[in-house]
Amino acid sequence: MSGKLNVLDIATNLIQKKSITPNDDGCQEYIKDELKDFNFDCVNLNLENVSNIWLRRGTKKPLVVFAGHTDVVPPGNLNEWKTDPFEAEVIDKTLFGRGASDMKSSLAAMLSATQKFITENPNHNGSIGFLLTSDEEGPARYGTKKVIEKFKKENMSIEFCIVGEPTSSKVFGDTIKNGRRGSLSGKLKIFGIQGHIAYPELAKNPIHIAGNFIEIINNYKWDEGNEYFPPTSFQISSIYSDKVASNMIPSWVKIEFNLRFSNELTQKNIEKKFEELLTNNEIQYEIDWNCSAEPFVTEQGKLTGVFQKVIKNNLNIETNLSTSGGTSDARFISKHADETIEFGPLNATAHKVNENIKVEELEKLESIYYGILRELLL
Ligand SMILES: [Zn+2]
Repeated sequence: MSGKLNVLDIATNLIQKKSITPNDDGCQEYIKDELKDFNFDCVNLNLENVSNIWLRRGTKKPLVVFAGHTDVVPPGNLNEWKTDPFEAEVIDKTLFGRGASDMKSSLAAMLSATQKFITENPNHNGSIGFLLTSDEEGPARYGTKKVIEKFKKENMSIEFCIVGEPTSSKVFGDTIKNGRRGSLSGKLKIFGIQGHIAYPELAKNPIHIAGNFIEIINNYKWDEGNEYFPPTSFQISSIYSDKVASNMIPSWVKIEFNLRFSNELTQKNIEKKFEELLTNNEIQYEIDWNCSAEPFVTEQGKLTGVFQKVIKNNLNIETNLSTSGGTSDARFISKHADETIEFGPLNATAHKVNENIKVEELEKLESIYYGILRELLL
Protein backbone atom coordinates (compact mmCIF):
# COMPACT_ATOMS: atom_id res chain seq x y z
CA MET A 1 0.00 0.00 0.00
CA SER A 2 3.03 2.29 0.15
CA GLY A 3 2.62 5.32 -2.05
CA LYS A 4 -1.12 4.73 -2.29
CA LEU A 5 -3.56 7.20 -0.86
CA ASN A 6 -5.41 6.13 2.26
CA VAL A 7 -9.18 5.89 2.45
CA LEU A 8 -9.54 9.32 4.06
CA ASP A 9 -7.51 10.98 1.29
CA ILE A 10 -9.66 9.29 -1.34
CA ALA A 11 -12.92 10.29 0.37
CA THR A 12 -11.60 13.86 0.67
CA ASN A 13 -10.70 13.99 -3.02
CA LEU A 14 -14.15 12.71 -4.00
CA ILE A 15 -16.07 15.11 -1.74
CA GLN A 16 -14.06 18.03 -3.14
CA LYS A 17 -15.56 17.34 -6.58
CA LYS A 18 -18.86 19.22 -6.81
CA SER A 19 -20.83 16.40 -8.37
CA ILE A 20 -24.35 17.67 -7.78
CA THR A 21 -26.73 15.32 -9.56
CA PRO A 22 -26.51 14.48 -12.48
CA ASN A 23 -23.02 16.00 -12.72
CA ASP A 24 -20.12 13.60 -12.10
CA ASP A 25 -17.49 16.37 -12.01
CA GLY A 26 -14.60 13.98 -12.67
CA CYS A 27 -15.28 11.48 -9.86
CA GLN A 28 -15.45 8.48 -12.20
CA GLU A 29 -12.25 9.46 -14.04
CA TYR A 30 -10.58 9.83 -10.67
CA ILE A 31 -11.62 6.33 -9.59
CA LYS A 32 -10.54 4.92 -12.94
CA ASP A 33 -7.15 6.62 -12.53
CA GLU A 34 -6.74 5.20 -9.04
CA LEU A 35 -7.30 1.72 -10.52
CA LYS A 36 -5.08 2.14 -13.56
CA ASP A 37 -2.22 0.03 -12.16
CA PHE A 38 -4.59 -2.79 -11.30
CA ASN A 39 -5.61 -4.06 -14.75
CA PHE A 40 -9.21 -2.93 -14.99
CA ASP A 41 -10.90 -2.75 -18.39
CA CYS A 42 -13.01 0.37 -18.72
CA VAL A 43 -16.21 1.19 -20.58
CA ASN A 44 -17.75 4.66 -20.41
CA LEU A 45 -21.49 4.73 -20.98
CA ASN A 46 -22.47 8.36 -21.04
CA LEU A 47 -26.13 8.96 -21.87
CA GLU A 48 -27.86 12.35 -22.05
CA ASN A 49 -26.22 14.35 -19.25
CA VAL A 50 -25.39 11.28 -17.17
CA SER A 51 -21.95 9.72 -16.67
CA ASN A 52 -21.70 5.96 -16.17
CA ILE A 53 -18.57 3.89 -15.96
CA TRP A 54 -17.98 0.14 -15.89
CA LEU A 55 -14.61 -1.16 -14.73
CA ARG A 56 -13.75 -4.84 -14.63
CA ARG A 57 -10.68 -6.81 -13.62
CA GLY A 58 -10.58 -10.42 -14.79
CA THR A 59 -12.99 -12.56 -16.78
CA LYS A 60 -13.61 -15.45 -14.43
CA LYS A 61 -16.58 -16.15 -12.19
CA PRO A 62 -17.69 -15.24 -9.65
CA LEU A 63 -17.92 -11.56 -10.52
CA VAL A 64 -18.11 -9.33 -7.46
CA VAL A 65 -19.42 -5.87 -8.30
CA PHE A 66 -19.14 -2.75 -6.19
CA ALA A 67 -21.95 -0.45 -7.26
CA GLY A 68 -22.67 3.12 -6.36
CA HIS A 69 -23.31 6.68 -7.39
CA THR A 70 -20.91 9.59 -7.68
CA ASP A 71 -23.64 12.24 -7.67
CA VAL A 72 -24.82 13.96 -4.52
CA VAL A 73 -27.86 16.02 -3.60
CA PRO A 74 -27.42 19.83 -3.49
CA PRO A 75 -25.94 21.17 -0.25
CA GLY A 76 -29.07 23.05 0.86
CA ASN A 77 -28.75 26.16 3.01
CA LEU A 78 -25.04 27.00 3.11
CA ASN A 79 -25.48 29.14 6.23
CA GLU A 80 -26.47 26.06 8.18
CA TRP A 81 -23.26 24.23 7.28
CA LYS A 82 -20.40 24.64 9.72
CA THR A 83 -17.92 23.83 6.94
CA ASP A 84 -17.90 24.37 3.19
CA PRO A 85 -19.83 21.27 1.99
CA PHE A 86 -17.24 20.64 -0.74
CA GLU A 87 -14.15 21.32 1.36
CA ALA A 88 -14.13 17.92 3.15
CA GLU A 89 -12.82 19.21 6.46
CA VAL A 90 -11.99 16.90 9.34
CA ILE A 91 -13.09 18.30 12.70
CA ASP A 92 -12.83 16.21 15.85
CA LYS A 93 -11.96 13.04 13.92
CA THR A 94 -15.09 13.49 11.80
CA LEU A 95 -15.14 14.15 8.07
CA PHE A 96 -17.73 16.75 7.02
CA GLY A 97 -19.02 17.31 3.50
CA ARG A 98 -21.76 16.55 1.00
CA GLY A 99 -21.51 12.85 0.21
CA ALA A 100 -19.69 11.93 3.46
CA SER A 101 -22.55 9.54 4.21
CA ASP A 102 -24.31 9.16 0.83
CA MET A 103 -22.11 7.81 -0.67
CA LYS A 104 -18.60 9.04 -1.42
CA SER A 105 -17.22 7.45 1.75
CA SER A 106 -18.45 4.07 0.52
CA LEU A 107 -16.85 4.65 -2.88
CA ALA A 108 -13.57 5.57 -1.21
CA ALA A 109 -13.74 2.49 1.02
CA MET A 110 -14.55 0.19 -1.94
CA LEU A 111 -11.67 1.62 -3.95
CA SER A 112 -9.14 1.49 -1.15
CA ALA A 113 -10.20 -2.04 -0.11
CA THR A 114 -9.88 -3.21 -3.72
CA GLN A 115 -6.38 -1.74 -4.12
CA LYS A 116 -5.26 -3.41 -0.92
CA PHE A 117 -6.86 -6.74 -1.81
CA ILE A 118 -5.34 -6.90 -5.30
CA THR A 119 -1.92 -5.80 -4.08
CA GLU A 120 -1.90 -8.64 -1.59
CA ASN A 121 -3.66 -11.19 -3.83
CA PRO A 122 -2.88 -10.45 -7.48
CA ASN A 123 -3.96 -13.97 -8.46
CA HIS A 124 -7.32 -13.94 -6.70
CA ASN A 125 -10.27 -16.00 -7.92
CA GLY A 126 -13.11 -14.53 -9.97
CA SER A 127 -13.36 -10.91 -11.10
CA ILE A 128 -13.97 -7.51 -9.55
CA GLY A 129 -16.17 -4.83 -11.11
CA PHE A 130 -17.13 -1.23 -10.38
CA LEU A 131 -20.47 0.05 -11.68
CA LEU A 132 -20.74 3.79 -11.10
CA THR A 133 -23.36 6.30 -12.17
CA SER A 134 -24.02 10.01 -11.70
CA ASP A 135 -27.80 9.56 -11.93
CA GLU A 136 -29.00 8.02 -8.69
CA GLU A 137 -30.13 11.06 -6.73
CA GLY A 138 -32.04 12.41 -9.76
CA PRO A 139 -34.54 10.66 -12.04
CA ALA A 140 -32.35 7.50 -12.30
CA ARG A 141 -33.35 6.96 -15.91
CA TYR A 142 -29.98 6.94 -17.69
CA GLY A 143 -27.84 5.46 -14.96
CA THR A 144 -27.58 1.99 -13.47
CA LYS A 145 -30.82 0.97 -15.17
CA LYS A 146 -29.27 1.42 -18.63
CA VAL A 147 -25.99 -0.26 -17.71
CA ILE A 148 -27.86 -3.31 -16.43
CA GLU A 149 -29.88 -3.44 -19.67
CA LYS A 150 -26.57 -3.57 -21.54
CA PHE A 151 -25.25 -6.37 -19.31
CA LYS A 152 -28.43 -8.35 -19.96
CA LYS A 153 -28.03 -7.98 -23.72
CA GLU A 154 -24.45 -9.17 -23.46
CA ASN A 155 -25.45 -12.07 -21.21
CA MET A 156 -22.97 -10.92 -18.63
CA SER A 157 -23.83 -12.42 -15.29
CA ILE A 158 -23.15 -10.87 -11.89
CA GLU A 159 -22.86 -13.30 -9.03
CA PHE A 160 -22.49 -10.84 -6.14
CA CYS A 161 -23.23 -7.13 -5.98
CA ILE A 162 -22.49 -4.77 -3.11
CA VAL A 163 -24.19 -1.38 -3.19
CA GLY A 164 -22.64 1.26 -0.94
CA GLU A 165 -25.79 3.08 0.23
CA PRO A 166 -25.71 4.26 3.84
CA THR A 167 -27.70 1.49 5.50
CA SER A 168 -26.54 1.67 9.12
CA SER A 169 -29.25 2.98 11.37
CA LYS A 170 -28.34 3.44 15.06
CA VAL A 171 -24.76 2.18 15.19
CA PHE A 172 -22.41 1.54 12.32
CA GLY A 173 -22.85 -1.98 10.98
CA ASP A 174 -26.24 -2.70 12.55
CA THR A 175 -28.13 -3.05 9.25
CA ILE A 176 -27.61 -4.50 5.79
CA LYS A 177 -30.35 -4.22 3.21
CA ASN A 178 -31.22 -7.42 1.41
CA GLY A 179 -34.17 -5.96 -0.47
CA ARG A 180 -36.50 -3.03 -0.70
CA ARG A 181 -40.24 -2.59 -0.79
CA GLY A 182 -42.00 -1.66 -3.99
CA SER A 183 -43.40 1.84 -4.44
CA LEU A 184 -46.67 2.40 -6.30
CA SER A 185 -48.21 5.88 -6.56
CA GLY A 186 -51.70 6.69 -7.75
CA LYS A 187 -53.71 9.78 -8.66
CA LEU A 188 -57.39 8.99 -8.23
CA LYS A 189 -60.06 11.38 -9.51
CA ILE A 190 -63.56 10.74 -8.15
CA PHE A 191 -66.47 12.35 -9.97
CA GLY A 192 -69.68 13.71 -8.45
CA ILE A 193 -72.28 16.18 -9.66
CA GLN A 194 -71.67 19.90 -9.18
CA GLY A 195 -74.43 21.90 -7.50
CA HIS A 196 -75.57 24.50 -5.00
CA ILE A 197 -74.48 23.62 -1.50
CA ALA A 198 -78.02 24.53 -0.27
CA TYR A 199 -79.60 21.93 -2.59
CA PRO A 200 -77.54 18.80 -2.03
CA GLU A 201 -80.37 16.59 -3.28
CA LEU A 202 -79.71 18.01 -6.77
CA ALA A 203 -75.98 17.30 -6.63
CA LYS A 204 -73.61 14.50 -5.68
CA ASN A 205 -70.71 15.45 -3.47
CA PRO A 206 -67.51 13.73 -4.60
CA ILE A 207 -65.73 14.64 -1.36
CA HIS A 208 -68.29 12.70 0.65
CA ILE A 209 -67.94 9.74 -1.70
CA ALA A 210 -64.17 9.99 -1.28
CA GLY A 211 -64.56 10.04 2.51
CA ASN A 212 -66.34 6.69 2.48
CA PHE A 213 -63.86 5.21 0.06
CA ILE A 214 -60.86 6.35 2.13
CA GLU A 215 -62.38 4.55 5.11
CA ILE A 216 -62.67 1.35 3.05
CA ILE A 217 -59.22 1.48 1.48
CA ASN A 218 -57.54 2.50 4.71
CA ASN A 219 -58.95 -0.55 6.49
CA TYR A 220 -58.19 -2.93 3.67
CA LYS A 221 -55.50 -5.45 4.57
CA TRP A 222 -53.25 -5.94 1.57
CA ASP A 223 -51.05 -8.63 3.11
CA GLU A 224 -49.42 -9.75 6.33
CA GLY A 225 -45.87 -9.11 5.13
CA ASN A 226 -43.41 -12.02 5.45
CA GLU A 227 -40.02 -13.00 6.82
CA TYR A 228 -38.34 -10.18 4.90
CA PHE A 229 -41.05 -7.54 4.53
CA PRO A 230 -43.40 -5.61 6.83
CA PRO A 231 -47.08 -5.53 5.75
CA THR A 232 -47.87 -3.35 2.76
CA SER A 233 -48.80 0.21 3.73
CA PHE A 234 -51.17 2.72 2.12
CA GLN A 235 -50.80 6.48 2.67
CA ILE A 236 -52.56 9.51 1.20
CA SER A 237 -50.32 12.47 0.44
CA SER A 238 -52.86 14.99 -0.86
CA ILE A 239 -56.60 15.63 -1.43
CA TYR A 240 -57.98 18.54 -3.44
CA SER A 241 -61.07 19.50 -5.47
CA ASP A 242 -62.18 22.09 -7.98
CA LYS A 243 -63.70 24.33 -5.30
CA VAL A 244 -64.53 27.67 -6.89
CA ALA A 245 -66.94 29.14 -4.34
CA SER A 246 -67.91 28.30 -0.78
CA ASN A 247 -71.55 27.69 -1.73
CA MET A 248 -70.73 25.09 -4.37
CA ILE A 249 -70.50 21.34 -4.30
CA PRO A 250 -67.51 20.53 -6.50
CA SER A 251 -67.71 18.18 -9.48
CA TRP A 252 -64.62 16.17 -8.60
CA VAL A 253 -62.04 15.43 -5.95
CA LYS A 254 -58.52 14.15 -6.49
CA ILE A 255 -56.63 11.92 -4.08
CA GLU A 256 -52.91 11.28 -4.40
CA PHE A 257 -51.56 8.28 -2.57
CA ASN A 258 -48.72 5.78 -2.38
CA LEU A 259 -48.38 2.15 -1.45
CA ARG A 260 -45.12 0.68 -0.17
CA PHE A 261 -45.57 -2.98 -0.93
CA SER A 262 -44.00 -6.32 -0.11
CA ASN A 263 -43.08 -9.09 -2.53
CA GLU A 264 -46.33 -10.84 -1.60
CA LEU A 265 -47.92 -8.46 -4.12
CA THR A 266 -47.25 -7.12 -7.58
CA GLN A 267 -48.07 -3.77 -9.15
CA LYS A 268 -50.69 -5.52 -11.31
CA ASN A 269 -52.61 -7.23 -8.53
CA ILE A 270 -52.67 -4.11 -6.35
CA GLU A 271 -54.08 -2.05 -9.21
CA LYS A 272 -56.67 -4.71 -10.01
CA LYS A 273 -57.87 -4.99 -6.39
CA PHE A 274 -57.91 -1.23 -5.90
CA GLU A 275 -60.06 -0.64 -8.97
CA GLU A 276 -62.31 -3.54 -8.03
CA LEU A 277 -63.00 -1.81 -4.69
CA LEU A 278 -63.86 1.41 -6.55
CA THR A 279 -66.20 -0.37 -8.95
CA ASN A 280 -67.87 -2.41 -6.18
CA ASN A 281 -68.68 0.87 -4.44
CA GLU A 282 -70.17 2.29 -7.65
CA ILE A 283 -67.69 5.12 -7.79
CA GLN A 284 -67.15 7.08 -11.01
CA TYR A 285 -63.42 7.53 -11.31
CA GLU A 286 -60.27 7.98 -13.34
CA ILE A 287 -56.94 6.74 -12.10
CA ASP A 288 -53.29 7.14 -13.10
CA TRP A 289 -50.77 4.70 -11.71
CA ASN A 290 -47.01 5.07 -11.49
CA CYS A 291 -44.85 2.26 -10.18
CA SER A 292 -41.34 3.57 -9.47
CA ALA A 293 -40.06 0.31 -7.98
CA GLU A 294 -41.08 -3.33 -7.76
CA PRO A 295 -40.10 -5.07 -4.53
CA PHE A 296 -37.05 -7.31 -4.52
CA VAL A 297 -35.25 -9.49 -2.05
CA THR A 298 -31.97 -11.39 -1.74
CA GLU A 299 -32.77 -14.30 0.51
CA GLN A 300 -30.49 -15.48 3.29
CA GLY A 301 -27.58 -17.12 1.44
CA LYS A 302 -23.91 -16.79 0.65
CA LEU A 303 -23.67 -12.99 0.48
CA THR A 304 -25.83 -12.27 3.53
CA GLY A 305 -23.81 -14.88 5.46
CA VAL A 306 -20.50 -13.35 4.40
CA PHE A 307 -21.64 -9.88 5.49
CA GLN A 308 -22.86 -11.16 8.84
CA LYS A 309 -19.54 -12.89 9.46
CA VAL A 310 -17.28 -10.01 8.33
CA ILE A 311 -19.26 -7.39 10.26
CA LYS A 312 -19.11 -9.57 13.36
CA ASN A 313 -15.33 -9.97 12.96
CA ASN A 314 -14.74 -6.25 12.49
CA LEU A 315 -17.30 -4.64 14.77
CA ASN A 316 -18.32 -7.44 17.10
CA ILE A 317 -22.03 -6.89 16.50
CA GLU A 318 -24.80 -8.94 14.90
CA THR A 319 -26.07 -7.16 11.80
CA ASN A 320 -29.77 -7.22 10.84
CA LEU A 321 -31.32 -7.84 7.46
CA SER A 322 -33.74 -5.10 6.47
CA THR A 323 -35.93 -4.11 3.52
CA SER A 324 -36.97 -0.74 4.96
CA GLY A 325 -36.36 2.73 3.56
CA GLY A 326 -36.87 4.31 0.17
CA THR A 327 -35.66 3.07 -3.18
CA SER A 328 -32.11 2.78 -4.49
CA ASP A 329 -30.33 1.55 -7.60
CA ALA A 330 -30.27 -1.91 -6.05
CA ARG A 331 -33.74 -2.26 -7.56
CA PHE A 332 -32.22 -2.40 -11.04
CA ILE A 333 -29.23 -4.56 -10.14
CA SER A 334 -31.09 -7.16 -8.10
CA LYS A 335 -33.18 -8.13 -11.12
CA HIS A 336 -29.99 -9.22 -12.82
CA ALA A 337 -27.47 -10.18 -10.14
CA ASP A 338 -27.75 -13.46 -8.24
CA GLU A 339 -27.29 -11.77 -4.86
CA THR A 340 -27.37 -8.05 -4.05
CA ILE A 341 -26.69 -6.48 -0.67
CA GLU A 342 -26.58 -2.83 0.28
CA PHE A 343 -24.21 -1.87 3.05
CA GLY A 344 -22.67 1.42 4.07
CA PRO A 345 -22.25 4.10 6.75
CA LEU A 346 -24.76 5.56 9.19
CA ASN A 347 -27.60 7.25 7.33
CA ALA A 348 -28.40 9.79 10.08
CA THR A 349 -26.90 12.77 8.22
CA ALA A 350 -27.50 11.68 4.60
CA HIS A 351 -29.02 14.50 2.49
CA LYS A 352 -28.82 16.86 5.51
CA VAL A 353 -26.67 19.89 6.27
CA ASN A 354 -23.41 19.01 8.01
CA GLU A 355 -23.40 15.52 6.48
CA ASN A 356 -20.53 13.60 8.05
CA ILE A 357 -18.81 10.34 8.87
CA LYS A 358 -16.43 9.51 11.72
CA VAL A 359 -12.97 8.78 10.32
CA GLU A 360 -12.90 5.58 12.34
CA GLU A 361 -16.17 4.48 10.71
CA LEU A 362 -14.73 5.18 7.27
CA GLU A 363 -11.70 3.02 8.06
CA LYS A 364 -13.89 0.22 9.42
CA LEU A 365 -16.00 0.38 6.29
CA GLU A 366 -12.88 -0.18 4.21
CA SER A 367 -11.94 -3.17 6.40
CA ILE A 368 -15.40 -4.68 5.94
CA TYR A 369 -15.37 -4.36 2.13
CA TYR A 370 -11.84 -5.79 2.18
CA GLY A 371 -13.05 -8.72 4.31
CA ILE A 372 -15.92 -9.33 1.87
CA LEU A 373 -13.49 -9.53 -1.06
CA ARG A 374 -11.37 -12.03 0.86
CA GLU A 375 -14.38 -14.19 1.68
CA LEU A 376 -15.69 -14.17 -1.89
CA LEU A 377 -12.52 -14.29 -3.95
CA LEU A 378 -9.87 -16.32 -2.08
ZN1 LIG B 1 -27.27 7.21 -2.13
